[in-house]
Amino acid sequence: MHQRAVTVLGAGLTGASVALELAGRGVPVTLVERDAQAFGRASLRNEGKIHLGLIYANDASLATAKLQLQGALQFSALLRRWLGPAADRLRASTPFHYLVAKDSLLQPDRLESHYAEVEGLYTEMRERTPELDYLGGTPKRLYARVEPSSLEPFVRSEHFAAAFETAELAIDTAELAAMIRSAIAGHPLIDFRPQHLVQSVTPAGEHYRVDCDTPAGPTAIESHQVVNCLWEERLRIDRSAGIEARAGWVHRLKYRVIARLPEALRRGPSVTIVLGPYGDVVVRDDGTAYLSWYPLGMRGWSHDIAPPSQWDAPCRGDVPAAQAESVTRDLLSAIDAWYPGAAQSDVLIVDAGAIVGYGSSDVDDPKSGLHDRTRVGVNSLAGYHSVDPGKLTTAPLFGKLAADRVIEAL
Ligand SMILES: Cc1cc2nc3c(=O)[nH]c(=O)nc-3n(C[C@H](O)[C@H](O)[C@H](O)COP(=O)(O)OP(=O)(O)OC[C@H]3O[C@@H](n4cnc5c(N)ncnc54)[C@H](O)[C@@H]3O)c2cc1C
Repeated sequence: MHQRAVTVLGAGLTGASVALELAGRGVPVTLVERDAQAFGRASLRNEGKIHLGLIYANDASLATAKLQLQGALQFSALLRRWLGPAADRLRASTPFHYLVAKDSLLQPDRLESHYAEVEGLYTEMRERTPELDYLGGTPKRLYARVEPSSLEPFVRSEHFAAAFETAELAIDTAELAAMIRSAIAGHPLIDFRPQHLVQSVTPAGEHYRVDCDTPAGPTAIESHQVVNCLWEERLRIDRSAGIEARAGWVHRLKYRVIARLPEALRRGPSVTIVLGPYGDVVVRDDGTAYLSWYPLGMRGWSHDIAPPSQWDAPCRGDVPAAQAESVTRDLLSAIDAWYPGAAQSDVLIVDAGAIVGYGSSDVDDPKSGLHDRTRVGVNSLAGYHSVDPGKLTTAPLFGKLAADRVIEAL
């Protein structure tokens, strides 16, 4: 075994961030992934919103908003560090408008004061560290209240109590996937091991033994340090290593549709309905959109240590035709009621992702733990580091932190 052997488990954005940071600092790393290629799960099959913290209005402490802002304002800088100037070529969506539902958990004035507080945090952070940027830009304002009718004809404004335009954007996760895959493949210090399903990690004296199933049979990797970036499989593998999770986790299975919008909607606003179990339309400049409607797209809820095995197929993009049709019909008709014309879109992809969070009730409950995303980060015990990034937005931030911990311990 190499004197400084480090194994990173999982090649989503978190694991890729750890591996690219370590390799960039001269540390050889083995990157283990169950799929044939990297970046094919939650990091690919999500909305791509780089959160400024606006949505987390129900966490009055502002801790969640602050964390999202920290992640968002370092997102591009960290990607640039690992991917070079290519990171600045990531396409962004049209800016999000937040539309306040008439039965929102919080009323428009309360939401507006949250947005003002988030903007205050943002201004402070940028004054303290002027080089911070948000996806290559430095917006002066994060939000402005507008009349819902200003969104006509794209949106049926009578459904909404208020509207805010915001500076928030989403990236195209498929583009990021392509960039990350080629950075991993091109780095001489990253030994990428696809089709390795991690079954357990066992402490063995001064090192760890990572047991994997591969198409050629079982194999074991010996390593001085292990970084667990397995997302919905993270707690199961932590348990095998003797680390028990804090109680209260929940795994949710959420479907999404990627579609080509009808011509008339291609310059429409990206929209998030707040605050509660609603949905999003994310309009990208290539004419495609991400479409989600929470009450119909959220089709799995589990407090087990890892999600049921039936979630695996949709989470790698394998959705039977009948299921894809039912998801499409449900989501598009719900969205068409307030974003008219959406149902005329040509569907390109129907798939799902697992969301890991903490809570015993759903987002329609103002007291749900799901409104607080601060129980995340890097948990290190000797040479074992377990990383819960919380969100795509904060995955590079926590990936970098985990790599720093590994280097400190070398
Ligand atoms: C529908 C949806 C919408 C979302 N929207 C947003 C959003 O707009 N903004 C935002 O910031 N966040 C969003 N998120 C959250 C975000 O997607 C995740 O926080 C983030 O992608 C997690 O990154 P990761 O690298 O930790 O996980 P993943 O990308 O899932 O990577 C984990 C990797 O580990 C591999 N793996 C798992 N188990 C094993 C095993 N046993 N052996 C070997 N390999 C294994 C997987 O195949 C995968 O490649 C959303 C999530 C979902 C599902």
